[in-house]
Amino acid sequence: MRLSAFAALLLAAPVVAQPVAEPTDSTAIAFIKAEATERGQVMDHATWMTDVHGARLTGSEALDRAQEWAVDRFRSWGVSAELEPWGTFGRGWKSDRMAMSARVSGPDVASQSFPLTAAPKAWSPSTGRASGELVVIDIDDDTLDPATLDVRGKVVLMGSLSDVARGLEPLAQRRDEHELLELANAGLAMTRGAQRRYSPEVLARYRARAARTQAVLTGEPLAILTPSGTGGSGAVRAMQAAVPEGQATGAGGRAAPWTAGVETVAQFAVLDEHANRLIRLAEAGQSVTIDLDYAATFTDEEVVEDNVIAEIPGTDLADEIVIVGGHFDSWHSGSGATDNAAGSAVTMEAARILKAFYDARGEGPRRTIRFALWTGEEQGLWGSRGYVSEHFAPTPGYGEPPTDVLPGHANVSAYYNMDNGSGRFRGVYMQSNEAVRPIFRAWLDAFDDSTAQTLTISNTGGTDHLSFDNVGIPGFQFLQDPLAYFAKTWHTHMDVYDHLDPDDMEQAAAMMATFAHHTAERAEKLPRKAMPDLAGN
Ligand SMILES: [Zn+2]
Repeated sequence: MRLSAFAALLLAAPVVAQPVAEPTDSTAIAFIKAEATERGQVMDHATWMTDVHGARLTGSEALDRAQEWAVDRFRSWGVSAELEPWGTFGRGWKSDRMAMSARVSGPDVASQSFPLTAAPKAWSPSTGRASGELVVIDIDDDTLDPATLDVRGKVVLMGSLSDVARGLEPLAQRRDEHELLELANAGLAMTRGAQRRYSPEVLARYRARAARTQAVLTGEPLAILTPSGTGGSGAVRAMQAAVPEGQATGAGGRAAPWTAGVETVAQFAVLDEHANRLIRLAEAGQSVTIDLDYAATFTDEEVVEDNVIAEIPGTDLADEIVIVGGHFDSWHSGSGATDNAAGSAVTMEAARILKAFYDARGEGPRRTIRFALWTGEEQGLWGSRGYVSEHFAPTPGYGEPPTDVLPGHANVSAYYNMDNGSGRFRGVYMQSNEAVRPIFRAWLDAFDDSTAQTLTISNTGGTDHLSFDNVGIPGFQFLQDPLAYFAKTWHTHMDVYDHLDPDDMEQAAAMMATFAHHTAERAEKLPRKAMPDLAGN
């Protein structure tokens, strides 16, 4: 039989069917929300992480103890949990005590002393009780010849005057409609591979600055102070100490202060206002002495570090997995509350809620749900990269393409991360994966929270979902309210329990559990972006 051309065209025309509605589970969502709010425990998890165990610096004993606590807590809910090693890191470190003050004396003023608000940079060696003359070196001053810098025995304030906000704007913010609309309307983000290029002039200035820094680091100063760069928030931001070039390299092929055998000098971040006063005193020709009492301990030269991995096993699709998580390690001067006990407590609470739900339902999730508390995040996503390398696709370094694809790669539906402070979820960064939009839209509609409605095609960076995204596994970070994250708490001594928002934490736990459940139960795994090229292709 031969069809007329017109009839053939009609038959071949695609059926304009209504897209199949993404199924949602209102029973589960109602249970999850009630469990998160009426019987919620997220702030108790956070108390134990922050107030009790305290800062959780990678390599430290405090982190080990806190991880053991987390494993025990998962198990107390009947959720299996293990420490899973991701590799050797370097040495541990902790600050034992620190006090710093400045003593001023000049020909025409009464001698006086005032305390400096400061925090040691991690892996700074002890100074003991010591005093040193203050010298201010503007490290960006291109007229300074590194060969002429005499810093031996002195306390070097490396930097220049910082702008200090007068506090006319609130530090803590929620995203407003305007900002959310801009995110929702954002175009497709630039694809990877856009390399930053520096002009020869910029490179030359960068090298000259590095030479001055090297001269200070190797000139045997008593200590180095830097303005903490938190302008007016009252917080001191301290990360790791810098190390002189030309020393032994460790993990990742670079010398870091945690690398066994690497030597450096004691370094401190100082509150901007206090650093500014020291700079102005020096400019006024006053003689300033810094009195310092600082002790620190290094431990275990080569520690193997672990992630905490917990799991609710799946049923008919148990080989396939959904992972939710956040990093458990922190910087050292606060107690790592918003960065990232928040994401860790929410991940643990999602596990508790989902376990309670599946127990009540009498049937586990279709896919296996894993709960990951990563470590080594602050030093370069070490824990999540190690996990992804071991199970899904090996990558040699941060942001580098995978060298291979392992069989487990195909089995991961999605990874969801929380690591942008304690602010409530306002939506999801789709990470350039347009195909997830109708799915996430259906889940957000079903979750029915008017404050969490934004889907943006934009990418966000800086944290563990990148370890998955980088090897072609759908990895997402929730879009959160910033509160005072970058303005005050991020990596600072103010990153403590009091800056966690309990209502926001409960909402985040409920939404994370909702996304994990729906990902575990849907017919298909989540659609993926194109697989990145393997290394060498
Ligand atoms: Zn973080």
